[in-house]
Amino acid sequence: MYPNILRHPGPTPIPKKVQLAMNQDIISHRSEEFVQLYRETTNRVKPIFGTEQPILLLPSGGTAALEAAVVNTVSPGEEVVVITVGAFGDYFVSICEKYGFQTHKLEKNWGEACTEEDLIEFLKPLSNIKAVFVTYNETSTGILNPIEKLAHVVRTHTDALFIVDGVSCIGGAPAEMDKWGIDILVTGSQKALMLPPGLALLSVSERAWKVIENNKTPSFYLNLLSYREWAKKGMTPNTPAITLIYGLSAVCDLIEEEGGFSQTVARHELMKNMVREAMKALSIKLLTSDEYASPTITAICSPEGLDLPAFIGHLKKKYHLDFAGGLGHLQGKIFRFGHMGYCFPSDILEAVSLMEAGLQDFNYTFEPGAGVKAAQNVFLSDHRK
Ligand SMILES: *Cc1c(COP(=O)(O)O)cnc(C)c1O
Repeated sequence: MYPNILRHPGPTPIPKKVQLAMNQDIISHRSEEFVQLYRETTNRVKPIFGTEQPILLLPSGGTAALEAAVVNTVSPGEEVVVITVGAFGDYFVSICEKYGFQTHKLEKNWGEACTEEDLIEFLKPLSNIKAVFVTYNETSTGILNPIEKLAHVVRTHTDALFIVDGVSCIGGAPAEMDKWGIDILVTGSQKALMLPPGLALLSVSERAWKVIENNKTPSFYLNLLSYREWAKKGMTPNTPAITLIYGLSAVCDLIEEEGGFSQTVARHELMKNMVREAMKALSIKLLTSDEYASPTITAICSPEGLDLPAFIGHLKKKYHLDFAGGLGHLQGKIFRFGHMGYCFPSDILEAVSLMEAGLQDFNYTFEPGAGVKAAQNVFLSDHRK
């Protein structure tokens, strides 16, 4: 009877309008109606990526689009750099290593960001790098890497392509693909874009297309050249996730209704600040510094002496509040509070309040209401309200 309050880093809640849009009758992906839907929708997504380049749609999860970004740009024997600050950076490492590309791994401790100094230092002894891969928003730790600065380093110190996994933040974080000099930007439907899983979106710079045209690594389903060819006709090479494209069109309506993408980004920033101030008021540690904190997901350290898995289970069972645990070696040490996509300041107040109720059940010592009050103060000081 009670709705599950899904505060995960994906999949995330789906707005009613999006669900209704996905109820429309299915159409042929070779019809005029589809061409119109495809063209209109992909054009409307461009501001979210900050690009003038076409947006390509893959009928897949985000991982397939990451794999596409790797296999289309790197040829056998070539060297790449992968920046990893957590579990999803390690994904890019695994993909590159599986294909046998020479992979130089710039690794940071989980909870830290990669700074421009880190990257400059790391690139110094390397002279033949074809691509630099990085996660924009590291979902496992709640780190937002300084992508604009890293792009600048790659542009000024190398001829390499700069390829970005934006799966857990595009739609909730600023992105200026063209202006910053990102060569490929990838995202997925089920995180900040408020859609069900099953649709990946990516865009490719003109520089990267030149590399892709000469690429020697074989691919078929993930071949971006065929996506580009078909996109010219307003179509995809094989059957697309038509239903999700209807949904994506409704997502664009919602962002417009909010006052445009900059407002959507501002709401995520506000929610981030509400969650962080609430935790500080409860004397609960955050995994990351404010400087590199993600606007879409906050990693929260287990309060001293708390049985974290039991606590997370209790919140779900008693209050229907569904937080995600930690990944890898952070399992049992942190939990993750998702605030991406269809999530609002009111949802933050609700989740913090229920979390406090759970803390009382677990006899954690704190001043009841302190977290809610802190979140509310951030909310009240927001000029947009
Ligand atoms: C979720 C996620 C992925 C994987 O996406 P899937 O849709 O599960 O394949 C990749 N990168 C990041 C940063 C993610 O958060």
